[in-house]
Amino acid sequence: FLDDVDLDAERADLGDGEPQGPAPVVAVVGRPNVGKSTLVNRIIGRRQAVVEDVPGVTRDRVAYDALWTGRRFTIVDTGGWEPDARDRAAAIAAQAEAAVATADAVLFVVDARVGATDVDEAAVKMLRRSAKPVLLVANKVDNAAQEIESMSLWSLGLGQPYPVSALHGRGSGDLLDAVLEALPVPAPAEAPRPRGPRRVALVGRPNVGKSSLLNRLSQEDRAVVDAVAGTTVDPVDSLAQIGGETWQLVDTAGLRKRVGQASGTEYFASLRTKAAIDAAEVAIVLLDASEPISEQDQRILSMVTESGRALVLAFNKWDLVDEDRRYFLEREVERELRRIPWALRVNVSAKTGRAVERLAPALHQALANWEKRVPTGQFNQWLTALVQATPHPIRGGRAPKVLFATQAGTSPPRFVLFSTGPLDAGYVRFVERKLREEFDFEGTPVEVTVRPRK
Ligand code: GDP
Ligand code: GDP
Repeated sequence: FLDDVDLDAERADLGDGEPQGPAPVVAVVGRPNVGKSTLVNRIIGRRQAVVEDVPGVTRDRVAYDALWTGRRFTIVDTGGWEPDARDRAAAIAAQAEAAVATADAVLFVVDARVGATDVDEAAVKMLRRSAKPVLLVANKVDNAAQEIESMSLWSLGLGQPYPVSALHGRGSGDLLDAVLEALPVPAPAEAPRPRGPRRVALVGRPNVGKSSLLNRLSQEDRAVVDAVAGTTVDPVDSLAQIGGETWQLVDTAGLRKRVGQASGTEYFASLRTKAAIDAAEVAIVLLDASEPISEQDQRILSMVTESGRALVLAFNKWDLVDEDRRYFLEREVERELRRIPWALRVNVSAKTGRAVERLAPALHQALANWEKRVPTGQFNQWLTALVQATPHPIRGGRAPKVLFATQAGTSPPRFVLFSTGPLDAGYVRFVERKLREEFDFEGTPVEVTVRPRK
């Protein structure tokens, strides 16, 4: 990774006149052979000279200058630690403490292919007592398959493991970003990545009012469409104004030309719906509030949840809903939409324009939760308390335990629970329900999978 970066050019950018205090110090500690030296070489790009004026650096503790995204720091390799010392635990403690004492942050390296050993745990005890930030490096994670396994190092209690391959460079950029974050001087804030309008699928069974809503929202004027900066709008898409913002309604050509009901069989209509959902980030599923929720509505809702897209329900034709219908509709919603109590709902009328602007905040909320990342430390703290308060029921004389968990991804949020054995589906649903209550995932499907220990 560092081979791509011109370190000398970055160095020149620092400028002579810039105030440069002493560089912060990062100590690398861990058992022999876990890859500390390899990691240090990776970080310094094998180019930097030994630094000699760092206090506490002795023969066996070598310090180097390092540079990452324009910031200087000193990295201290503790490679010379003696594994065969008679009082092994004492040697480890002394090494860890000496390194920690001179450091602003500590990289604690563990061989992820071996897992946490007794020696690792002894070192952790020392490190945890320090007030210094410790980053847990899960080294020798050479491929994606090993990455999820490396998450078992959560058990060390040092927080999130950073999966890295010091040898090949995998993950070291993320690690260095985290190192800079842990160091005293904060990195300069990055400008957020600009992006085009969010992609929305407008779907629903025939006659719910998709074309009517599209007509109300869309900008048919291609001049306006083309003027939206930095976007290429597919000819099958439409740009729409909702809540004073521009949204990209995907795959709406069929709706514009009204071929939907004229020529499409239900089979083809369903294929088009699926394609639109897959092309979108969030789906507005239109329902006809004046009619019962049908099988076809349910199938479209399932398509959205199965594709893992964010979801907003729009109950259309609200102008036709009177007191009585409203009463029955609420009962119907309770009964028929039980599977998706998390879906956001807006009652609109494409005909009168009622509340269509309210789709915008609902779309934003659904998208924000769809992309939400729960800090892993916070997540595990919460989960530990939850499984303590409500343990898994006993099965065949024993109860499987949830050990720890991690958010494996977003869009939609995906969580992996590591456990001592298979978990009941009911218990997993319970965890998901509590997870939703705690961290607010309204408007998005959430995936929870279990990884029983072998
Ligand atoms: P140290 O004693 O902790 O400094 O460990 P070294 O850096 O000397 O590495 C010990 C051994 O592990 C060497 O053979 C390295 O090539 C190997 N090694 C280090 N990092 C990795 C890695 O990310 N993946 C693999 N597969 N091997 C690694
Ligand atoms: P699509 O098949 O989903 O595209 O539905 P259309 O937009 O073609 O609408 C089907 C019928 O419902 C048309 O007769 C529309 O005029 C009517 N319609 C659509 N939206 C509303 C609404 O909000 N209120 C009322 N009363 N009628 C609507």
